[in-house]
Amino acid sequence: MEALNHFSYVTGLSANSEKSSLYMAVMDDDAKANLLSKTGFSEGRFPMKYLGLPLSPKKWSKLDCHQLRVKVTEKIRAVSSRHLSYVGKLQVINAILFSLHNFWGAMFILPESILKDVDKKCREFLRGSNEETKKVSLVAWEKLCKPKKEGGLNIRSCRKWNLALVGKLIWMLITNKEVLWVRWVHGIYMKPDEEFWSHVPSGNCSWYWRNIHKVKLGMQQWYSTDRYVLTTSGVYSVSQSYLSLIEHREIKDCHELIWSKMLSPKHRFILWLAAQNRLLTKDRMLGMGIECEIADCVLCDKEELENPQHLFVECVWSQAVWNELMQWLGLAVPQQDLKRPLRWVKKKKWCRMMKEVLVAVHGAVIYFTWQARNGRIFRKRNESPSVTVQQIKFIVKERIGMFIGSK
Ligand SMILES: [Zn+2]
Repeated sequence: MEALNHFSYVTGLSANSEKSSLYMAVMDDDAKANLLSKTGFSEGRFPMKYLGLPLSPKKWSKLDCHQLRVKVTEKIRAVSSRHLSYVGKLQVINAILFSLHNFWGAMFILPESILKDVDKKCREFLRGSNEETKKVSLVAWEKLCKPKKEGGLNIRSCRKWNLALVGKLIWMLITNKEVLWVRWVHGIYMKPDEEFWSHVPSGNCSWYWRNIHKVKLGMQQWYSTDRYVLTTSGVYSVSQSYLSLIEHREIKDCHELIWSKMLSPKHRFILWLAAQNRLLTKDRMLGMGIECEIADCVLCDKEELENPQHLFVECVWSQAVWNELMQWLGLAVPQQDLKRPLRWVKKKKWCRMMKEVLVAVHGAVIYFTWQARNGRIFRKRNESPSVTVQQIKFIVKERIGMFIGSK
């Protein structure tokens, strides 16, 4: 009480006994009752809330994280996945994960079971699965969590992003930042001049402090004589740490071209799936044990099992579209396989704009070929190559206009 009175005297602020609680540990009931009656405060129990975050000295139980689980489920349920495209669903997932990471993940080492559960909910939402309907995943979740340059979709894997965020707290401790909590931790938990790397937490210290030290062991290679080396400035980067955790490898392929802004978002996504060989063509469906009525290509009369190489490269329908568009551009682009035009344009010493126009045309051809194929199967509609060419020209011109207008 003396300290509180002194605080009130110095600052002019006084504690509101109705809104204040006492948190007591290792005390008998009489001592607790004595303190409570002297202060007029109520007895507080963990987890307590501070700035909306639950705080507790103990390991978080599944029950403590219930609120987090409910929030993710509510956000997903608020959006009907039936009417959203894959790209739209991806944006919802990124928004959910962004708020999760920035609000909860930046402060706490979250329990693995909760993070796995959040990943699972996002995976099911993305592929349109629910309690009644289970759908197959077009691309493995681990692949989706890779950077776009490596063929992924840059979704942040919960566990590893959480570790990368916690790594920032460790960096602050290592570099001994002039921050109140860092000074407090050094003063309470560590001996003067003790090395953070060699510090061994005592058996009776908090769960969180012990786990910080378990986590730090996996981050030792990011430091050289206590300097963070994943950035040249030595300033901690969550994304660089994350890339290190997902064992990112620079792959010299054409993936980044697929995500050019010149392509419409729908085209980018179908081109990305086609380049991964992940569209549900009939050869793939049969391989997965899914029955299909007609297994031949529906765009031409050739009796050949529908497969990406035929549908997007060899089919007379898609060839007619491609050839007319190449005439329009005045180019002869090799097209031995689906990714060949991308690799070809990547090597060209053209300006970025020219490269992106060709990729936009290529993406549009893949997208409209897939649409024409689906139109014939599901809506019995026959789209001619010449009409498709007109649509593609219109869209590409529109995208170029938008691209130039935005500069
Ligand atoms: Zn065909």
